[in-house]
Amino acid sequence: MTMDRGTAAPARILVVGASASGLTTVEALRRKGYTGKIQVLGDEPHAPYDRPPLSKQVLSGAWEPERTALRAPGVLADLDAEFLLGDEAVALDARARTVQTASGRELSADAIVIATGARARALPGQEGLRGVHVLRGLDDALALKRELLPGARLVVVGEGVLGSEIAATARALGLVVTLTGPLAAPMALQVGPMVSGLLAELHIERGVRLRLGAGVAALTRRGGRVTGVELTTGVHLPADVVVVAVGAAPATGWLADSGLALENGVVCDSRCRAAEGVFAVGDVARFHHEGLGRAVRLENRTNATEQAVAVAGAILGEDRPYAPVPYFWTDQFDARLQLHGVVTAAPGAAETVEVVEGDVASRRFVARYTSDGVVTGVLGWNMPKQTRARRQEVVAAQAALVVPAR
Ligand SMILES: Cc1cc2nc3c(=O)[nH]c(=O)nc-3n(C[C@H](O)[C@H](O)[C@H](O)COP(=O)(O)OP(=O)(O)OC[C@H]3O[C@@H](n4cnc5c(N)ncnc54)[C@H](O)[C@@H]3O)c2cc1C
Repeated sequence: MTMDRGTAAPARILVVGASASGLTTVEALRRKGYTGKIQVLGDEPHAPYDRPPLSKQVLSGAWEPERTALRAPGVLADLDAEFLLGDEAVALDARARTVQTASGRELSADAIVIATGARARALPGQEGLRGVHVLRGLDDALALKRELLPGARLVVVGEGVLGSEIAATARALGLVVTLTGPLAAPMALQVGPMVSGLLAELHIERGVRLRLGAGVAALTRRGGRVTGVELTTGVHLPADVVVVAVGAAPATGWLADSGLALENGVVCDSRCRAAEGVFAVGDVARFHHEGLGRAVRLENRTNATEQAVAVAGAILGEDRPYAPVPYFWTDQFDARLQLHGVVTAAPGAAETVEVVEGDVASRRFVARYTSDGVVTGVLGWNMPKQTRARRQEVVAAQAALVVPAR
């Protein structure tokens, strides 16, 4: 690795992916005093923008799309990084540390940061079918928004965080909304049965039709346009518009011949290092979490920022494990849910949930999740201050569990 003269830093750094985690890596590098050359390659034509508002403020029309920009043009320019936008990385040679792009560029660096995030998963048969959308990027949000007309029938496939949010936003816009998916309640996987039951109540109260506990058999069509969703139970849900929100897959296709280990993301050690001089950050990174004692891939906005700071440090020679307390939030109708930690119980473990602040009836509460007596998460429903204060319980429990392994 070529180093900056007089420092332990690599002379040239290439960041692939120009979004939250890629941009924050660049900012952290500069903040930590890195003065070498930085290039940022991004396949989207847009300057870095934020994704959480897409399913909320952009879809509802509360924000103009420009407001999602993560930094003003002057602030980006001050980073003294070269942004190569609208060009996609198609291959990486991890040993040589070179990246080929779709337009024919070959970019070399002494350290490479993979920040390519995730791509929306699709259903078989949806490609090219008018009226069917996914929501991952700004262009997706604008295309979907154009079809969210009051009174139109929208079916959202996928009862996870994104699908539940889209259902809530569209319902508030006056659409006739049906939410479908294989689980029993919205976000059951992310928040467990008690809270997802409360979310189901909220959605029903606001007029979302829940058709849960069934998979999708087919999208029905006429003349190249979707007409509805047929469920595995035989039920047909008629639709003018369908959103497919069945999760996201890490964007690793371009890394197939890179020599890196790929397994539900780019496999990294606890320093976010995938190979000598190659790091991964954000939604695409599957790293060894020393606090949880296993590999994790976190798809949330806070991780994109926090992990970027850790990766910048690792590139510059800091030797600290990245072991965050996972955190995400979601806004649905007038509910803001915030979750610190994780709620999914380990196989065979008994998970319990108790309300420790506020009360469920007033829809202001904090719930604590424990698994075999160990606190694994705290979830707040419209109680931000108290939720934040309770986070410490997760931090303490996680610290007690530290399992070093590299
Ligand atoms: C609609 C929506 C709402 C969300 N809401 C919330 C929320 O409320 N709370 C929360 O915590 N999290 C939320 N998230 C998740 C959060 O936005 C992500 O965790 C975060 O954006 C991850 O940042 P990232 O930079 O790692 O990846 P991304 O934001 O996915 O950025 C990756 C970038 O790399 C580009 N790229 C991919 N492949 C290539 C390639 N081969 N060459 C060049 N460029 C490439 C992509 O086009 C993209 O621009 C939401 C996500 C979405 C989509």
